[in-house]
Amino acid sequence: MNPRTRSSQLYEQALEHIVGGVNSPSRSFKAVGGGAPVFMANAKGAHFTDVDGNKYIDYLAAYGPIITGHAHPHITEAITKAAQNGILYGTPTELEIQLAMMLKDSIPSLDKVRFVNSGTEAVMSTIRVARAYTKRNKIIKFAGCYHGHSDLVLVAAGSGPSTLGIPDSAGIPTSIAQEVITVPFNNLEALREALEHWSDQIAAVMVEPIVGNFGMVMPAPGFLEGLCKLAHDYGALVIYDEVITAFRFHYGSSQTYAGLDNHDQIMPDLTALGKIIGGGLPIGAYGGRKHIMEQVAPLGPAYQAGTMAGNPASVASGIACLEVLQGEGVYEEMERLAIRLTDGLRESADRHGVAMTINRIRGAFSTHFCDHPVTDYDQAQDTDGEKFAAFFRHMLDRGVCLAPSKYEAWFLTTAHVDADIDQTLQAADEALKLVAAG
Ligand code: PMP
Repeated sequence: MNPRTRSSQLYEQALEHIVGGVNSPSRSFKAVGGGAPVFMANAKGAHFTDVDGNKYIDYLAAYGPIITGHAHPHITEAITKAAQNGILYGTPTELEIQLAMMLKDSIPSLDKVRFVNSGTEAVMSTIRVARAYTKRNKIIKFAGCYHGHSDLVLVAAGSGPSTLGIPDSAGIPTSIAQEVITVPFNNLEALREALEHWSDQIAAVMVEPIVGNFGMVMPAPGFLEGLCKLAHDYGALVIYDEVITAFRFHYGSSQTYAGLDNHDQIMPDLTALGKIIGGGLPIGAYGGRKHIMEQVAPLGPAYQAGTMAGNPASVASGIACLEVLQGEGVYEEMERLAIRLTDGLRESADRHGVAMTINRIRGAFSTHFCDHPVTDYDQAQDTDGEKFAAFFRHMLDRGVCLAPSKYEAWFLTTAHVDADIDQTLQAADEALKLVAAG
């Protein structure tokens, strides 16, 4: 591996001009010992090349969207064609309808959708609609779930904010923070108490139905059923944030995922989408039941708009990405590789005496340096961040790129192959040996 000299130089330069040197805090290496993050020069399939010419296997997948691997020819072609036809019109276009129909066909609770530009916007808009519809102000969220960086949901937020030790962001007025109640994930009793306490004030219960932001965490059996029932009993709406989960585990969302039961009892009123549905270009979408979505302008009084919303390039990229995911056996193959990888990691961790909990859901998984299960945010926090940081660095030095945070997942893509897994397991065995030696 070449020294990452050019990355360090670029980081110095970036620090002068870009706050913290990064355009999203989750890209910083602050939580893994600091210093320059790796500046990538290009990416193809499951591989990166950095500005110093080093090669890496990518498990970051750009925090989720790149499920087909980088520069997938079908997506690149769709984006090129869209660009050649003009990248932004400010008028409706036909492709927007096609992507909306693809989402509706695979996510049954969507009667009507609206495209926005990011997951943050999608979530923010669902909250506005829920408030407009219920004429109530408060929302309940779950500790450690991350729902983007809008004011209301940056209270007890997991993922990036937790990694940097700022789950409750500065700059959010107390008056707004008071409108959010946080309860532990997988804890129906705490949810019931909160609903009872603020009974006629809760507009919505917002949840990542399968958590992707304090590791990958499945809802306990009955949790989503209980959540939907309780919320509705108290006149609140249910919002699923499926920005990570939609199209992640199968062609569809958690609402119809075979790993969850009683699909008719876990239907949300509103859903926020993003990441994969744009195939790597900026996108978000939200949608839900017709009578609720009809709150949104121009039909209703809840205003939400966007100059870039539904732009032809993002929409074409999203359609192309979903088309790739419709291919025969793509999810099965990602899962097969993820099983090989997690089995191998487990063996190496055991061999070297490193305590590790692995939560895998099909082609995505999280590794936690601890000897207890991780089913809620407290347990995810109570893991060894120093060991993770050492592991992260040893992996990077061996050409494996993970997210620089103990809370983030590893994502398999349709571009990974067995040789990538072999190389990753070899690197992981060496890395875990070094972690064990301290
Ligand atoms: N919701 C969830 C569940 C997410 O994981 C994220 C991003 N990691 C967001 C919302 C925000 O999406 P974006 O970064 O596109 O604004």
